[in-house]
Amino acid sequence: MTESRRIHILDPRLANQIAAGEVVERPASVLKELAENAIDAGSQRIEIDLEAGGARLIRVRDDGRGIAEDDLPLALSRHATSKIASLDDLEGVDSLGFRGEALASISSVSRLELVSNTQDEPSAGWRVVAEGRQMEPRVSPAPHPRGSSVVVRDLFFNTPARRKFLRTEKTEFGHVEETFRRLVLSRYDIAWVLRHNQKVVHQLRAGDEPAAMERRVGALLGRKFLENALHVDIEATGLRLWGWVGLPTHSRAQADQQYFFVNGRVVRDRLVAHAVRQAYRDVLFHGRHPVFVLYLELDPHVVDVNVHPTKHEVRFRDGRLVHDFLFSSLHRALADVRPNEPTSPDA
Ligand code: ADP
Ligand code: MG
Repeated sequence: MTESRRIHILDPRLANQIAAGEVVERPASVLKELAENAIDAGSQRIEIDLEAGGARLIRVRDDGRGIAEDDLPLALSRHATSKIASLDDLEGVDSLGFRGEALASISSVSRLELVSNTQDEPSAGWRVVAEGRQMEPRVSPAPHPRGSSVVVRDLFFNTPARRKFLRTEKTEFGHVEETFRRLVLSRYDIAWVLRHNQKVVHQLRAGDEPAAMERRVGALLGRKFLENALHVDIEATGLRLWGWVGLPTHSRAQADQQYFFVNGRVVRDRLVAHAVRQAYRDVLFHGRHPVFVLYLELDPHVVDVNVHPTKHEVRFRDGRLVHDFLFSSLHRALADVRPNEPTSPDA
């Protein structure tokens, strides 16, 4: 031990690696961040390619608004964002990102390449690369249609302790698919493609009319779910809840098919979970779990999304109001099908 250790500011790339610990757990978390950026860029079509469960390669290609040449190096810097500029913006934030950390974090633990073009001229793109703690801030010309591609290779190549925590290709791809399901259930108006090891796994056309939405839900959760679900759409006191709730007869042994979105963002919230559980309480056998895809929409000013770096948690300004609205909406919907006795589960 040195006897007098002086305080110093961490090298920024090292700081990024430390921050990466919070948001970059595995390939699926990289996908979440890259795809959310593509959504925020106003894309209509998002294509995802992975190799070896994402450990070797994750590529997200979009047709969004792109990043200007001068901004490219900044996109990879920590606390650099185009999405908010003030505390006011943060309080009403309607983009998925706002922390300006994802690309900096991911690039500090991988080999990252970002190619982007803001113009309709396909030869007009620019490219920037970063590798682990080394970053080359130089930007070079690279053709790309309007939009962006981010390629992340060799995740955790420079952090062996983290790499060791990656599981088999199959397990990692399972997490990727789960993340994909959440993404595509959050934006029906976007066309999505997911390829793994050069094979198409999912190809989903865009469309947010009811039939198209049901087609997508059916493709992801099975037609059987739709045949055994109620469609709900309830509005009250500035809150709207819509989506599909599975009938008690379509319950599962695990809580593995429960999708809840708050203003388009997937959340796992205790208050939400409690309200849903209560609503199903007297129609489900003990130990059974409902299947649902539900969307809560409310004024972004009354929900705080800046609770955790992964943004999986939210804080409602009036939690009681939200809880009671969820409970009563679902309870009423389920009352119409409520049998005298709990029905026997079939899944
Ligand atoms: P955040 O999303 O929190 O702003 P990121 O590190 O994820 O932070 O991205 C930094 C910035 O890079 C974004 O604010 C955005 O301006 C730009 N950016 C990243 N990905 C894309 C993309 N696919 N299309 C357009 N701009 C992007
Ligand atoms: Mg982001």
